[in-house]
Amino acid sequence: MNTLLRSVPLGRYRGVALGAHWSTLVVVILIAQAVAMAFLPVAAPGRSPVSYWLAGVLAALAFMVSLLVHELAHARVANRYGIEVRRIDLWLLGGATELTAPPPTPRADLLLALAGPGASAAVGVVAAVTATALDAAGAPPLVVSPLMWLGVANVLLAGFNLVPAAPLDGGRVLRAIVWWRTGEQARGERAAAFAGRAFGLVLVALGAGNAFSGRTSGLWLVLVGVFLVFAASAEQSYNEVRHRLDGVLVRDVMRTDPPVAPAWWTVDRFLRSCTADRHQRVFPVVSSEAAPMGVVSLTDLVSVPDQAHTTVSDVARDVPVALPGEPLLDVLGRGPLTAGRDIVPVLDDGVLTGVLDAEDVAWATEISRAVRLGDRETSS
Ligand SMILES: [Zn+2]
Repeated sequence: MNTLLRSVPLGRYRGVALGAHWSTLVVVILIAQAVAMAFLPVAAPGRSPVSYWLAGVLAALAFMVSLLVHELAHARVANRYGIEVRRIDLWLLGGATELTAPPPTPRADLLLALAGPGASAAVGVVAAVTATALDAAGAPPLVVSPLMWLGVANVLLAGFNLVPAAPLDGGRVLRAIVWWRTGEQARGERAAAFAGRAFGLVLVALGAGNAFSGRTSGLWLVLVGVFLVFAASAEQSYNEVRHRLDGVLVRDVMRTDPPVAPAWWTVDRFLRSCTADRHQRVFPVVSSEAAPMGVVSLTDLVSVPDQAHTTVSDVARDVPVALPGEPLLDVLGRGPLTAGRDIVPVLDDGVLTGVLDAEDVAWATEISRAVRLGDRETSS
């Protein structure tokens, strides 16, 4: 499953990791096929199938590059507002830019959202103008037509992305405007999510109608619609959790005095000692001087072949650590916390003082529906 979700690294651009999920290949093939078999035989008739396919593949790859340009434009504006960009990935339904923090103001939110469609529209216009100029200069239709296709595709992409529905860029524009007018970010988020689900359902209905009348392209529309409904809902739940956990610190949630795995013990010895505490599945590893040395899970340990001659430190994984006074959201922003696999050691002055795992975060999310965590006034 993990390999299915992982994306293939494409390199780095200004420190940002670029990647492509394997499903991108599906899009490249579908676009190349549409350009080579449907568009070019009409737009540039009388050429060989090989030249149509060559132009089709080039057009599809150029379109993928223009998707990266769209995402890099978002990343550039994010950087300008001091938001770090974790990575940019291409996948089946386009590109995704992963930011480490949400935009701080409605203005930042708006400009960040508009940057992508703005870049797509610019690429589109440049490609279309170049195609027109080449055509006037007498270039062959096999060169002019794919370039014109690229231009039109980018302008359409910009237009589709501006539909005011989360998680599309237009949804972020809507969010920013409602946030600006009402002063409430959460209201903007709810409006964008509602519009996202509604627009997604409209696409599903249109797509299903098309599919029933025999057009297979309708299935594509259904897929995009279902994705929008799910993504808008997921974004909304994430935002609610984010608002609830805002202001909560690691120390409000962490578990103190966790069972630890001594680094110098053999795996065999440690696993036998584990039967005494049946609730812990991931352990911070500590040295004989009580210095933290990573983490280890039961899954890591039981899969060691020679448990009698392997020490816990041989199996320990390096993981990011946290400080007690750090905001919980900052820690969660660093990566996923999978139950039974990940744990965040909390260090105070280099000494292990607690741990944080998925269960603790789930607890905090649940209880913060009723009780404000992190209110530090004591009542008597
Ligand atoms: Zn975008």
